[in-house]
Amino acid sequence: MGKVYLVGAGPGDPELLTVKAARVLALADIVLHDSLVSREVLAKVSPRANIIDVGKRCGRKLLAQDEINSLLVSYAASNEVVVRLKGGDPLIFGRAGEELEALRNAGVEFEVVPGVTAAIGAAAAAGISLTDRRFASQILFSTFSRRPEGHAMDWGAVTPATTLVLYMPGPDYAEVSERLCDAGLPSELPCVIVSNATSSQQQVRWTTVAKLAHEEKLPAPALLIVGRVASQQVREIGAAFWREESAFALPAEKYSDVFKRPAS
Ligand code: SAH
Repeated sequence: MGKVYLVGAGPGDPELLTVKAARVLALADIVLHDSLVSREVLAKVSPRANIIDVGKRCGRKLLAQDEINSLLVSYAASNEVVVRLKGGDPLIFGRAGEELEALRNAGVEFEVVPGVTAAIGAAAAAGISLTDRRFASQILFSTFSRRPEGHAMDWGAVTPATTLVLYMPGPDYAEVSERLCDAGLPSELPCVIVSNATSSQQQVRWTTVAKLAHEEKLPAPALLIVGRVASQQVREIGAAFWREESAFALPAEKYSDVFKRPAS
């Protein structure tokens, strides 16, 4: 019996791979990866390894989740080092829960190698602190689910001091904008779209919850950072904050009274 490593490939830049991830990739006998994983990261895989793309492409699923779970178990029976390679961190929006359960049920040994999740890569790309102490005290990693039964968007946890990171916003920004407004987020709350964070195709667009509806779609993968920290002004006032305490009072005031929750 071999061992299965669930490895985070990071957000794109191969230099953001952990030292441990690079070591495991170099030792791999077989690698099952998602389509999010960059070519530069795959270049770190041992040349003798069998590399299998199990990801989704253009909406077409190459393999169902059940099939991936079974493959991991069966490959572990005949390979020493099996790597399940996922974009970002393997445990964030990566269906890893199901894979770990299958491995546990089959008695297969496994280890998780964390990675830099896209939210952290995107924050670095935009040069904003998700927990800027002047504006935020908590971060919510969420996703935009179009399924009515989806419980992914629990907006009850969003407060004026929350930075919301929305994974998988999809192509319809108008719908996302509408749902954010419906949830009680103020229309002028800052929002930044980050596409292909940390890769050479990285794009950052500064907007607001309302203006998001009319923004041109950026290439996937992209995510949204929503909250007062996502303002370009945060960067502009950053230096002033340390010189003059009152310098940050203005924007904080400006946003606090526009953040209204829907009457319950
Ligand atoms: N496990 C991954 C997330 C998988 S869900 C992680 O921890 O990052 C896939 C979503 O992640 C994409 O739809 C997009 O919203 C986001 N994403 C992944 N890589 C990204 C990147 N380089 N730039 C911006 N968003 C990214």
